[in-house]
Amino acid sequence: MSQERRYSFEFFPPKTEVGHEKLLVTARRLAECRPDFFSCTYGAGGSTREGTLNTVLTLDRQVGVPTAPHLSCVGDSKAELRALLNTYKDAGIRRIVALRGDLPSGMGLASGELRYANELVEFIRAETGDHFHIEIAAYPEMHPQARNFEDDLKNFVRKAQAGADSAITQYFFNADSYFHFVERAQKQGVDLPIVPGIMPITNYTSLARFSDACGAEIPRWVRKQLEAYGDDVASIQAFGEQVVTEMCEKLLAGGAPGLHFYALNQAEPSLAIWNNLKLPR
Ligand code: FAD
Repeated sequence: MSQERRYSFEFFPPKTEVGHEKLLVTARRLAECRPDFFSCTYGAGGSTREGTLNTVLTLDRQVGVPTAPHLSCVGDSKAELRALLNTYKDAGIRRIVALRGDLPSGMGLASGELRYANELVEFIRAETGDHFHIEIAAYPEMHPQARNFEDDLKNFVRKAQAGADSAITQYFFNADSYFHFVERAQKQGVDLPIVPGIMPITNYTSLARFSDACGAEIPRWVRKQLEAYGDDVASIQAFGEQVVTEMCEKLLAGGAPGLHFYALNQAEPSLAIWNNLKLPR
């Protein structure tokens, strides 16, 4: 089974030259794991259009790991999306992560022509045929804006059937939520690989804030333990590493088709989990 698995690391486009240099160092270290690909996020509404493009091309060419741009549809016109797709296609990029995106508050929703990620997947297929391997997002604990789990699952199935090749999940800290989601998606006829998104735990305050916003639950026993460590960063990281490693072990033992690390432009937290899992380098 292990030879079928795929591993990937996700970055965001750095805003400064120093950040760019640091990302290159990080990416080169993570490249030693021989991942299947890197990916780079996109600011919905086009705020990182140039930054994402430059980061993708740099990592792909200078670090030598195939790199997938994220592309979101809210806030971008079809013409803007088409132009970006053609740029990536001409540059030899073969994988793309297709998302709806979340516009920063105040930007409104009216400016984009495509409303949901399933429409973006259809658009990419209509514009570029089979050129891109299309990744979509999945939410084992339900997307925070969904009315209920059933609706969210139906929307996921529709998005998968619009032409996606595989899915990456929102992060979670409860392996059962992942297995439950995969089982339900499979019962609805979705047979594409659904790869768990893994968030290393490095900082409790920012993790708690972000998790609230994106609907990822930090189990009470994990939260309480992290809170108890206060400013003791070393203990937070050691405990977080153990919790996430054990969850990854369960995921892989239960048949997860790989892991996608939210590396957040740092090598060490993902590498520590990678080494604990004794994944090949
Ligand atoms: P969708 O699949 O469109 O779903 C959004 C919501 O609408 C859900 O509640 C769904 O149930 C509902 N829905 C879906 N289709 C329909 C429909 N046809 N009719 C009615 N309701 C529908 N955000 C960024 O801005 N940039 C990034 O780079 C980025 N990368 C990400 C990477 C991963 C792996 C993940 C998991 C998320 C990422 N996000 C990113 C966040 C993502 O954009 C948000 O979670 C966003 O709110 C939803 O995006 P989606 O593609 O899942 O949307």
